[in-house]
Amino acid sequence: YTGPIRRALISVSDKTGLIGFARFLADAGVEILSTGGSAKAIAGAGIPVKEVSDFTGFPEMLDGRVKTLHPKVHGGLLGIRGNADHEAAMSEHGIQPIDLLVVNLYPFEETVAKGAGFDECVENIDIGGPAMIRAASKNHAAVTVVVDVADYDVVKAEMQANNGATSLELRRRLAATAYARTGCYDAAISAWFAGQLGETFPRRMAFAGELKQEMRYGENPHQVAALYATGENRPGIAAAEQLQGKELSYNNFNDTDAAFELVAEFDETACVIVKHANPCGVALGSSLKDAYLRAYSCDTESAFGGIVAFNRTLDGETAEELSKLFLEVIIAPEISDDARKVLETKKNLRVLRTGGLPDTKVGGLMVKNIAGGLLVQSRDNLLTAADLKVVTKRQPTGQELKDMLFAFTVGKHVKSNAIVYVRNQMTVGVGAGQMSRVNSSRIAAFRAEQAAKAAGDAESWAKGSVVSSDAFFPFADGLLAAAEAGATAVIQPGGSIRDEDVIKAADDAGLAMVFTGMRHFRH
Ligand code: 5GP
Repeated sequence: YTGPIRRALISVSDKTGLIGFARFLADAGVEILSTGGSAKAIAGAGIPVKEVSDFTGFPEMLDGRVKTLHPKVHGGLLGIRGNADHEAAMSEHGIQPIDLLVVNLYPFEETVAKGAGFDECVENIDIGGPAMIRAASKNHAAVTVVVDVADYDVVKAEMQANNGATSLELRRRLAATAYARTGCYDAAISAWFAGQLGETFPRRMAFAGELKQEMRYGENPHQVAALYATGENRPGIAAAEQLQGKELSYNNFNDTDAAFELVAEFDETACVIVKHANPCGVALGSSLKDAYLRAYSCDTESAFGGIVAFNRTLDGETAEELSKLFLEVIIAPEISDDARKVLETKKNLRVLRTGGLPDTKVGGLMVKNIAGGLLVQSRDNLLTAADLKVVTKRQPTGQELKDMLFAFTVGKHVKSNAIVYVRNQMTVGVGAGQMSRVNSSRIAAFRAEQAAKAAGDAESWAKGSVVSSDAFFPFADGLLAAAEAGATAVIQPGGSIRDEDVIKAADDAGLAMVFTGMRHFRH
């Protein structure tokens, strides 16, 4: 039977749009069955409705834990129409077919998100809802299942166009959506449960995500791409509000995330410019404009078409400076009205406000695909400031120490091998993503020369700088390259079997060096 819908069961926690849809169904001659709260709302609007308990002849009980778990409901949803045996069994037991199921689940995710206690969360695990959704979806050959308020209109439109019936194509699409919903629901429950038990890596792990945006293409034009929101409560790119500009691309999302996560590391006024997911300029400043100009001066070449992130409200005077350069994305916790006015003239420029900064010290898991598996690890959310160990004869000066910590923080966000030169709380040279540490050192030193050249300075900006390495120098050569470029101090994890050689080379070159004891690879 795939004719007009004759009987619907409605059981919804989110009652948005309920009355309008129920009225449409009633007007179309559909008999409506419904559970307690939903039935009350429908009847309250003067729409005819039958309580499920009257339909089954069995009361809702156990505080609502058992409402719809009854053969008359599940038989009505699951019985195969046109199958003689099924139809005989249904009529023998007085089971009437249910052609449309409208269910949205107890708000488990919202209950967890608002910080409810264990028992309240458990009570918000819906049992009958998912059971009915899965039954109706299995029998999509005849049954239409709606789990999203957003789909009321789609069903309504088809019924209007088809004499009260829906198409098999739509029923299949809705069934797929419905299984995704129950799958994500159980993923949320299992993740919460694992968290309650303190299990970081449960035996099976499911990831829940909701499609937020399909993109025109992926990292390259021949790849497809989309953003799924995980519901993680973290201010940043996935939940940001876009105030203007073109739609964000896959690379925009990736780069902007990198920029914002780095700028959030600093308590002081800071600016980060990113290209290809690596920072090409990072600086603190006496003002936001100052921070931007200093970050920009580190690499005026790469900044073109870049992503710029701030950790303060973007003001008008900084926006004026930004508007002089071609940029892809600007992101900040807030964008002032003055800044908005200035940037409005740049129609394509994407401007995002996040409403806040993420706590970069908070934990969480990161996921990466490999062939046949997912690599899962905790966030690199630590930075050693407390147990720095000076290993050279010369102690670092106060300024060197400040610059070293700044450099090491930036280095944590640079693809390995990562070498970062810093002078006076701004990067002057970044060497990223090389397969040998010494090559990253060379590139960073070269960049410091170029920065000086662009500014009209005779001397490389590496002169009097400090240098950070994300992992230990396996040989003295990388360190010597830095000293030759003009660095006076080095920060690195230490831990190489040749540490003694490297320390001796540092002493011979008059460098100050500290070990952090913590490595920050990033790939
Ligand atoms: P109402 O507000 O109509 O009283 O309840 C609607 C909610 O109850 C829906 O979210 C639906 O998924 C859920 N529900 C329906 N049947 C059952 C059941 O038998 N057990 C439980 N635990 N939840 C149910």
